[in-house]
Amino acid sequence: MKESYDCIVLGGGPSGSTAATLTAEAGFSTLLVERDKFPRFHIGESLIPETYWTLRRLGMLERLRESAFPKKYSVQFVSGEGKTSVPFYFNQHDPRECSQTWQVWRGEFDQMLFENAAAKGAECHQETRVMEVLFEQDRAVGVKLQGSDGKIRSVFAKVIVDGTGQQSIIGTRLGVRKIHPRLKKMAVWTYFKNAARLPGIDGGATLVLRTQNRNGWFWYIPLHSDITSVGVVGDVEYMTQGRGKPEEVFAEEVALCPALQERIAGAEQVDGIRVAREFSYTSERPAGDGWVLVGDAFTFIDPLYSSGVFLALTSGERAADCVIEGLKKGDTSAAQLGKWAPDFEQGVARIRKLVEAYYSNCFNFGEFLKAFPSHRGGITDVLIGRVFHDKAGDVFRDMDPWLPEALRG
Ligand SMILES: Cc1cc2nc3c(=O)[nH]c(=O)nc-3n(C[C@H](O)[C@H](O)[C@H](O)COP(=O)(O)OP(=O)(O)OC[C@H]3O[C@@H](n4cnc5c(N)ncnc54)[C@H](O)[C@@H]3O)c2cc1C
Repeated sequence: MKESYDCIVLGGGPSGSTAATLTAEAGFSTLLVERDKFPRFHIGESLIPETYWTLRRLGMLERLRESAFPKKYSVQFVSGEGKTSVPFYFNQHDPRECSQTWQVWRGEFDQMLFENAAAKGAECHQETRVMEVLFEQDRAVGVKLQGSDGKIRSVFAKVIVDGTGQQSIIGTRLGVRKIHPRLKKMAVWTYFKNAARLPGIDGGATLVLRTQNRNGWFWYIPLHSDITSVGVVGDVEYMTQGRGKPEEVFAEEVALCPALQERIAGAEQVDGIRVAREFSYTSERPAGDGWVLVGDAFTFIDPLYSSGVFLALTSGERAADCVIEGLKKGDTSAAQLGKWAPDFEQGVARIRKLVEAYYSNCFNFGEFLKAFPSHRGGITDVLIGRVFHDKAGDVFRDMDPWLPEALRG
């Protein structure tokens, strides 16, 4: 490891590896450090179609096409009454290659991205923990790292990109995180072998199944090797108050979801129960002098529409472009490094609004689409992540009157 770089990227998840790959590829000396050793476990297995563009720029499509990851062509919703929606087939909306995506084991997927960053010229270190970000006044100037040998060293750079996920080292230190008051959720999940799969292209679909009391919903994500990821999400209060251990909560929620029971009836649970608190949040500032936040380190939305990896890749790419431009012209100010964020946040707000529409008990997607069939395309746009164009918010003009007051506008 050298003493200084143009750019140091913290965290080898999708956001960090993307930012490191592109900055290195542009010819700037780039260090990427990851605390864990790959392949490490991570939740967030279902991709959405708009990941295609960043994955293409990273040069990852070939590897994904050759992988064992199941292909995902659609998402389907099952109501609390057990009624299954018509699948949202992404290629009916846009019949191009980019409409098919994948269901991934994150350990393998993230390792591929990390190795790709190394292949494109970034210096990549696993088992290297960021202990502290070093500041001179308000400017980030370097990091203190602990390597697998236990030694602590300081390394300096013109720009620090924070992709440390929910830990958000810089965001936490500066206290810039704002928790979304209405989306304080918790997830409890596990993995099943040989759970039911539909034939053909429907076999790779993500299912979102609501529980009978409408207080929770299950994700059902088919992975390779006949494993299915199954998890339930609900308000943190609902999931914890007066409830037993997570194992009991999971079993009680399964009992409230006959459509899920049918699918896992002949399956074997092959992992323990896992739990994550998943409060949606954003950061008051995306960047400062010499630093920028990407991915979950910047913002996190409820996983209902599987948007997390897409937002990590997109923010990693957009931030990298601002870092590259800034390094070229010798401007690594907050304004330069955070230039990408306002447009990005507008797209995030559209996904968050559709998340909140789903949770609002007075709104029903089926009825809305019966009244406004022409909005199917607009909703599919949000579901695939196509949220950064001018017309992406048009669907909400007609949806607003159907939503509770707090969500309108
Ligand atoms: C319950 C749940 C379900 C989800 N389901 C989906 C889904 O189906 N689809 C989807 O797209 N998204 C999903 N997400 C969201 C998704 O997991 C995240 O949005 C995504 O992983 C963010 O990528 P990232 O690169 O920003 O952060 P991460 O993937 O979290 O990567 C951050 C990396 O930083 C490393 N790190 C942390 N601290 C340090 C340190 N001090 N030093 C060095 N390295 C460090 C970590 O080890 C990690 O590898 C889900 C999230 C939750 C909670």
